[in-house]
Amino acid sequence: MIVATILLVLLLLIVVHGSPTTQIYSCDDLKRSNIARVLLVTAHPDDIETLAGGTVAFLSMECKLEVAYLITTNGDKGWSKNYDMNSIELAQIRKTETYNAANILGIKSIFMLNQEDGRLEGVDSIDLKRNITKVVRTFKPDLLITFPPSIDLDGMQFGIIHQDHTTTGQSALNVVWPAGRDYLSFIELYDQGYMPHIIPTVWLFTININGSTNSMYIDITGDRFDRKVDALLQHKSQYTASQEVVDSLTQLGTYISNDPNKKYEAFTVLNIPN
Ligand SMILES: [Zn+2]
Repeated sequence: MIVATILLVLLLLIVVHGSPTTQIYSCDDLKRSNIARVLLVTAHPDDIETLAGGTVAFLSMECKLEVAYLITTNGDKGWSKNYDMNSIELAQIRKTETYNAANILGIKSIFMLNQEDGRLEGVDSIDLKRNITKVVRTFKPDLLITFPPSIDLDGMQFGIIHQDHTTTGQSALNVVWPAGRDYLSFIELYDQGYMPHIIPTVWLFTININGSTNSMYIDITGDRFDRKVDALLQHKSQYTASQEVVDSLTQLGTYISNDPNKKYEAFTVLNIPN
């Protein structure tokens, strides 16, 4: 009777809250899902470190997976205290910072679309999808990590809300299904030798794991968090006070974990039909 009651409560919890949140503990968890190549598709040079720096360290340095970045804008409007800076100079500085930060996380492959920061919705969406498709068909990821296609209001308090994020997420998801896999979607790419590619799994950056179904988290407490901080601090045009970076990333990580002693990065998992 007690067992039956517990099972009923568990079932009700699942019905009310969707699938329970799971944790990825080890590299074997990824192997079982046949994940060997990972592409992160983001909008600005420092998005990945902020939202997934510890996860990238785990995937790349601990699990030895092939991990690459695709960044849609060049970050040429990013906040700067130097009022003498112009956009061309800032974009060049941020490119160098991107490689320095990626190096801390063991990343060598970076694709940049170099669109103007803050103007992504002004880019022809077909061009954006074509360019993302080209990278997907070149790198051939098993897992694509990107932004949710709609604004995540939980991100507002951490200053990570931006229209470029949702535009990038929408376009990337459209490439996952169906543009990347249908050769007629961009026949010109097919004619150039970019063969269709199916991505079976997508992770969307998630701040509130209790408000999401099929959410998953990775515990980045410890070395992974330290590496994330080191990587974000490479973006010197954006961040100068190291303690402020530690504090803000701690605030974000503990908000996701809902535990002051643990820092998580979280994602909503989408399994894409073939
Ligand atoms: Zn951003």
